[in-house]
This record gives sequence, C-alpha cells and structure tokens, in this order.
Amino acid sequence: MAKHQFQTEIGQLLKLMTHSLYSNKEIYIRELVSNASDAIDKFNYLSLTDEKFKSENWSGKITIKLDKEDDSLTIADNGIGMSESDLMENLGTIAKSGTKAFMEKLTGDAKKDSNLIGQFGVGFYSVFMVADHVDVITKKAGEEQAYKFSTDGTGEYEIKPVTKEAHGTVIYIKLKEEEKEFLEPYRIQNIVKKYSNHIAYPIMLNYTEEITEGEGDEKTTKKKNKTEQINAATALWTLPKSELKKEDYIEFYKTISHDSEEPLLYLHNKVEGAQEFTTLFYIPKTAPMDIYRQDFTPGVKLYVKRVFITDDSKELLPLYLRFVRGIMDSEDLPLNVSRELLQENKILANMRQNSIKKILQAIQKLSGDDQTRFTQQYNKLIKEGIYTDHTNKELLLDIVRYKSSTQEGMVSFADYISRANSEEKIIYYMIGEDEKVLRNSPLLEAYNKANIEVLLMDDKDEDGIVTPTIEKYKEWELKDITAIDAPDTKTKEEKEEIEKEFKELTDTIKEILDKEVKEVKTTTRLTKSPSCVVKDPSDPMAGLASVFAQMGQEVPEAPLILEINPEHEMIKKLAESKDKKMIEDISWVLLDAAKLSEGMDPKDKAAFASRVAVLATKAL
Ligand code: ADP
Ligand code: MG
Repeated sequence: MAKHQFQTEIGQLLKLMTHSLYSNKEIYIRELVSNASDAIDKFNYLSLTDEKFKSENWSGKITIKLDKEDDSLTIADNGIGMSESDLMENLGTIAKSGTKAFMEKLTGDAKKDSNLIGQFGVGFYSVFMVADHVDVITKKAGEEQAYKFSTDGTGEYEIKPVTKEAHGTVIYIKLKEEEKEFLEPYRIQNIVKKYSNHIAYPIMLNYTEEITEGEGDEKTTKKKNKTEQINAATALWTLPKSELKKEDYIEFYKTISHDSEEPLLYLHNKVEGAQEFTTLFYIPKTAPMDIYRQDFTPGVKLYVKRVFITDDSKELLPLYLRFVRGIMDSEDLPLNVSRELLQENKILANMRQNSIKKILQAIQKLSGDDQTRFTQQYNKLIKEGIYTDHTNKELLLDIVRYKSSTQEGMVSFADYISRANSEEKIIYYMIGEDEKVLRNSPLLEAYNKANIEVLLMDDKDEDGIVTPTIEKYKEWELKDITAIDAPDTKTKEEKEEIEKEFKELTDTIKEILDKEVKEVKTTTRLTKSPSCVVKDPSDPMAGLASVFAQMGQEVPEAPLILEINPEHEMIKKLAESKDKKMIEDISWVLLDAAKLSEGMDPKDKAAFASRVAVLATKAL
C-alpha cells in the first residue's frame, strides 16, 4: 500500500470543495457521468480500431447504484479504465494550469463558482462536496492488474492493487451525513435528466425498493432490487432536426459544455452529397474562461460515424473560433484517422471550411441584444480572425464592430457605409488606447465639423496590428486619420498663403523643439484646439508598427509632426510676440498638450508642469 500527497494546489482545491461550495452540489453527478462517458468513448474507439480489443462483445454502459444501508452511491463504467500511473497523473496532479486558473476565477458566489468546476477540468474533485470518503477502483483495458485509489479528501491518497474482473472504473462515494438526499432514486433521475440525458450511452439506475403489503398486523415489507435506464442515450446530433425542440438542444449544450447558461445560438447541419457529415455547434453566452490562455481546452469533439475520435484537437476549427462548442461527425473519415495528421486531411479540411462558413453566417445574422452580446464577448477574437483567416475575411468584416465618433454603441462597416454621404468611398478610423482620449482628440475636430464619421478603435494592441491589414471593405478604402490630411475647407492657394504668413513662427518653434518633432506646420484640421500631433505618412516605420508588435518587440517611436491652428487666438498672439522665453515655453506646451490629447506622455512631465505654472502666473 502506498501513501501519496496530493499536489499542493489540489489540496487547496479539496479544502474549497469540502468547505465552501454549498450550492448546486448535484453537479458532481454530471461531472462523474461525463468522465465515465469520456472513458467509454475512448474504449469504444479502441474496440473498433485495435485488433486486441476487436473481438470483445462489448457495449458501453454507466451504472449508478444507490445503497441506503451503506449510505453510499457508486458510479461504474466499462470504459478504458486507468493504470496506476494514470491514477497518479489524472487524479493526484493537475498538469494543466487548470487549478490555478480556477482558483483565480473564484468569485465567492457559490453558485457561479460551482459552475466553473467542469470548465476548468477539475470535475472529478467536485465529488468532495458530498463525500466523506471516495474509492476509485479501476482496471485499464489490456492490463492485468487493477488498482484502488482511496482518499478522504484531505491532503493524502492511497493506491493499492486490487482484483477487478473487467476493464473500467467504479467510483465508490461514501456520502456525508447531511447528503443522504442523493440516495433517493427520484433525485438522481431528475439530476440525470437535467444534465446528462443525451449522454450517448445508457445510464442505469440500480436501487432497492421497499414494498409494503397487507394491513395492520399482517403488514410485511419486502425489498426489491430494481434497475432502470434513466437517460435517453441518443447521440442527439444524429436525430433529424424536425424531431428536436429548442429544449433538447439546450439540454445537450449543458451536457457537453458544463455551462449552466443557455447558449447564444445553436446550429445543426447535415451535409449530404460527395461528402457526408453532421455538425452541431453552439456559441456560449459568456466566453469560456480559458480562451485567452495558452492551454485552453478546445470545445469541439470529432466523431466518425458516431464513434468519438478526439476532443483535444485544436485543428478542427481555426483558433479564433475557440469559443465554439459542439460536435463534428464525419461519415467519410476512416476510423483510424491519425489524430496527429488531422490537419492535413482533405476530408477534414472540407468539413472544417464548411463549418467555419456556417458558423460565421449564423453570427452575421445575429441581431439586437444577441448581436450586442456577441460583440461584447467575442469582438476581439473576430479581429484575430480578420488577421489570420483570409478565406473568410469578407464574412468576418461584416461581423466585426467598432465604436464611432458619431454613433452610440458599436457599429459595423456596413452601417458606416450606409450613413456616409461622400462620393469618395473612404472609411476613416483612428486607433488609440482609450475611448475617451479618442473622442476628445483634436484630430476629430475637422471631421466633426465636416460631418464625417470616424471609427474609433480603442484596442490599440490588437487594432494596431489588425486594422492596417484590412485595407478595404467592399470598395471602400480604410484610412487612418492621423496619417492623412484633414478634410479641406480651404483652397490650395489659401493654404499656401497661411503657411507663408506663419512661416517665421513655425520655423522658430521647430528650432526650439528641434529633434522632438520632424516638422512644424500650420493646419486646417483644427477648430477648437491650438495644436495637434500627427504621424508622418511618408515615414516607412509608420506602417511597420504592426510587424514589430507581432514580433513582440517594442514599437519604435514614429517621428511626429506638430500642427498648429492659425485661427486660434493663442497662435495669432504667439506669432506677434517678441518675448523669447515665453515663445519657448509655449512651444513646448503646444507639443506636450497635443501629445497628451493623443494619450502620449510629454517628454519631460515635470518641465511641462512647471511651464504651465509659469504661464498661468503670467496670465493672472
Ligand atoms: P477532465 O474530465 O476535464 O479532464 P476531471 O477532473 O473530471 O477533469 O478528470 C480528470 C481525469 O481523470 C480525466 O481527464 C481522466 O483522464 C481521468 N478520469 C476521471 N474519471 C475517469 C473514469 N471514469 N475513467 C477513466 N478515466 C477517468
Ligand atoms: Mg471531467
């Protein structure tokens, strides 16, 4: 007999399960049934592909046994089972960062917290919400020796060899004193209906019924052992759409996603013809917790003729669709398709392309609150798609949403075009770190005045990389307003006139600011502000920012052009001033204030503050 310590994080997790999560305890049944079903899936695959297991007359089954005399509940499966090292690896440690991530996400709201359990791959441990003691008796298919893993849910577990006839796993749960409700057959029936009805294998409930016969003194109680199937046990996606109701789809979603919310949308498709396959996809209302983690769990399972192949392939759908949950079931792939080579498989590639289109088209059709919800949860991933999936760029561009200088909420490119009143077919945008900074940017003044809508992209890291790659939406060209001239209200001659008039001032300012700016010039793009800074459109580095960001390198500072507003009182007076010190201070303030309005820092913050103080004192 060998004693082992649980990994430290699991120790913590167990404490939490036993002491803190009080509501929704019933989900432990869902988790253990889901594990049993996974184990049966794995053996099912072996029995069809591996000579060693082919002859077996086997069909997958899960049995839940209630024992009122012993206060125990047992869940048994005839799946793949676990070896001694499997037990230690799968139940004694958590390889993924699952536990840690789980702990970080805990809200203290017991209901929400227990919903996280399945999503983080820590489902097994939920049994300690109700158990005083747990034994896992298991024998791996193809091996001689069976093992028993025992624990009280404290820091330790024990493993010892035992005898067990068939492969598979039995989980014996000694219920806590206050959890005896789980010995009532109707309670288990309800839980299984609620969470596991469409598990593809039969779930049998075994219990003892007491039957009372006769009256008064004649009364006798007989015990009768009963076994009945308590789930539908159909692979839901194989049923015709016409036989399925919305509730069925939602129930199935909860079974496969461990999510307690209803999905945002579901789509069920049967494709017939040269290639045949069925897909059933769901989009969760709330983005799965791990989609921004490197080790996220893929949400789509691959089946071949209803035989489970893998749920661990990141190739079934492109990475940017990693929030999608569901099933892909092919009639044409060989059962022994190599999981490693899935990516290169033509049949899968075709199924994948078809699926992406279907999913994106369904998203495109979302409207109202659902559309808003989708954008709120997944817009960032759609942008990732625009950058990586050129085949479906058109569809993705129809789905993505941005903030706008003239509209509330989020708008699409199509909305933008439908409102635009110019002939020139240009979509104007501006990228920055913060919505407020963008909305208050002096660069917008001329556009507001000319009644031109500008898309405001406030996810600088991602938009900065993705937007320059868009180039066009339909025939409309995308243009960054910080890198182009503002809409014009003046003729070329008028502009030259103004430029000449202010040449002395712009030269002086350039001399003072020296290398801090590439150029100083007058502008017609401002109405209220005295100055602004723009990027130099001819600078080769300007377009390369995205490349640097992508390589994970610091983006080199693009040289700035300082533009001053010749119609502003301050600039007019400055042009006439002879006070050298004053001109110098104001030149710096013009630059620093303009940088601040674009969310950039002044070169020397302290100097900026002291100049403002000096100027304010003078003004008083
Ligand atoms: P997850 O199912 O998300 O991987 P769990 O905590 O539910 O996380 O289970 C941990 C692991 O333990 C499973 O991945 C599986 O390898 C193993 N396991 C659990 N239950 C069984 C079972 N009934 N048969 C075989 N393996 C099991
Ligand atoms: Mg599990």
